[in-house]
Amino acid sequence: MRAVVVGGGIGGLVAAVALRRRGWTATVVESAAKFGEVGAGVQLGPNATRVLARLGLDEELAKVAVTPEVVRFCRWDDDAVLTEWPVKRRMRERFGAPYYTLYRPDLIEVLARAQPADQLLLGARVTGMTAGADGATVSTVDGRRLEADLVLGCDGIHSTVRSATVGDVPARFSGMCAYRALVPADGTETKVRIWLGPGRHLVAYSVGRYLNLVGVVPAADWRTESWIAPGDADDLRRHYAGWSATVAGLLDRVDGPVYRWALYDREPLPEWVGQTTALLGDACHPMLPFLAQGAAQAIEDAGVLAECLEDHDVPAALERYQRLRLPKASRIQRMSWDNNTAYHLPDGPEQHSRDEAMRRGEAFALDAVSWIFEETGSVG
Ligand SMILES: Cc1cc2nc3c(=O)[nH]c(=O)nc-3n(C[C@H](O)[C@H](O)[C@H](O)COP(=O)(O)OP(=O)(O)OC[C@H]3O[C@@H](n4cnc5c(N)ncnc54)[C@H](O)[C@@H]3O)c2cc1C
Repeated sequence: MRAVVVGGGIGGLVAAVALRRRGWTATVVESAAKFGEVGAGVQLGPNATRVLARLGLDEELAKVAVTPEVVRFCRWDDDAVLTEWPVKRRMRERFGAPYYTLYRPDLIEVLARAQPADQLLLGARVTGMTAGADGATVSTVDGRRLEADLVLGCDGIHSTVRSATVGDVPARFSGMCAYRALVPADGTETKVRIWLGPGRHLVAYSVGRYLNLVGVVPAADWRTESWIAPGDADDLRRHYAGWSATVAGLLDRVDGPVYRWALYDREPLPEWVGQTTALLGDACHPMLPFLAQGAAQAIEDAGVLAECLEDHDVPAALERYQRLRLPKASRIQRMSWDNNTAYHLPDGPEQHSRDEAMRRGEAFALDAVSWIFEETGSVG
C-alpha cells in the first residue's frame, strides 16, 4: 500500500515512520528544499513521547531531550507558585512515558534520519489533488503527479490538502503574538516555568544548550505568521516591565535574534477524512500554543492512524481514525483558545478565583489535565 504524505513537519515525518512500520510505503512531499524547523523549543508530553517510543525513536530522542524537574505555573509579579506538575518524578510512573523539552532542529533531525532517501521529495510543493474511492493523486508545482492509495495532508495550518478535500474554515486571529528567543543555557534551569499575568504570559525552559523563551503578548495590528519575522529585544522587555526580578533577569539575557509570530487557530472541523484522504496535525486542528499540545496532538494522530491502517481497509480505517482522534484534539483546540482568556486575566476577583482553583488542584493542575496525557482510546 502506498501513501503520499504532504508536508514534512513534525506530524508528517512521524506519520511516515509510523505507516512504514505497518508495511506501507510512505513518500513525504515537502515544499521546503531542506528541513526547516526554526531554532526554538518544543515541549512533548507523554501522550507524544509514548508514540515516539513505540516507533523505536526513544533512544535517539533521549540523547537530545531534556527532562525537566517540574512544570511550574506562577504569578507574574512575585513568582508565587500557583500549581506545579512533578514531571521527572511522576510522568513516567503515571503515564508510562517521559515529558521532554527539545530543541526543534534536534527533534527534526531524529525524525529526518528515520526517512529513507527514496521516500522523500524535498523542494516539491503540492499544488493540487484529486481523490476517489480507488486512490488519490497529488500534483506538484514542478509538474510531477504522484498516485497513492492514501494521501495524508500534514501540510500545516494553511493546508492545501484540507482546501481540496474537506474545505476551509477561516483562520481565527487570537489578537496575540509570540516573541521567541534563545539564550545560552547556564545549566541551572531545571523547570518549565510559565508566568501568568495581566494580558500576557511568559514561558521559559531549557532545551539543553539553550534556554527557550516564549513571550505571548497583545499583537495590536501585527498579523504576520512566520517563524523568522524579526522582533525587537527591547520591545519584548518593555512588554514585561514591572514583572518579577526573575523575569527581568531572564529577559536581560536576550541579546541574540528575537522572532515574532502572530497566533491563529481555527474552529474544530467536523470531519478530517475522505475515502482515500486524511488530514493530520495543524492541517486539521491548528490550535493556540497555550497547552503546548499542537505537535503532541499531531504525533498522537500519526500513531493512531497507522494503527488503524494496519488492516489495509482504507475507508474503514480512516473513519476509525477520525472517530478516535477528532473529539480529543477538538477539545484541546477549544481549551487552548479559552486559555487566551484564562491565562491573561487582569488582577482582580476572576484572577483570584482562578489562582485559588489552581492552588486547590482544580485548574491547570496535573490531575485536571491528566486526560491530555492519557492514551487515545484503544483501537478495537
Ligand atoms: C510559539 C509556539 C510554541 C509552540 N509550542 C509547542 C509545544 O511546546 N508543544 C507542542 O506540542 N506544540 C507546540 N506548538 C505547536 C506546534 O509547533 C505545531 O502544532 C506543530 O509544529 C504542527 O506540526 P505539523 O507537522 O502539523 O505542521 P507544520 O509544522 O506546519 O508542518 C507543515 C509542513 O508542510 C509543509 N507544506 C505546507 N504546504 C505544503 C504544500 N502545499 N506542499 C508540500 N509541503 C507543504 C511545510 O513546509 C511544513 O514543513 C507551538 C506553536 C507555536 C506557534
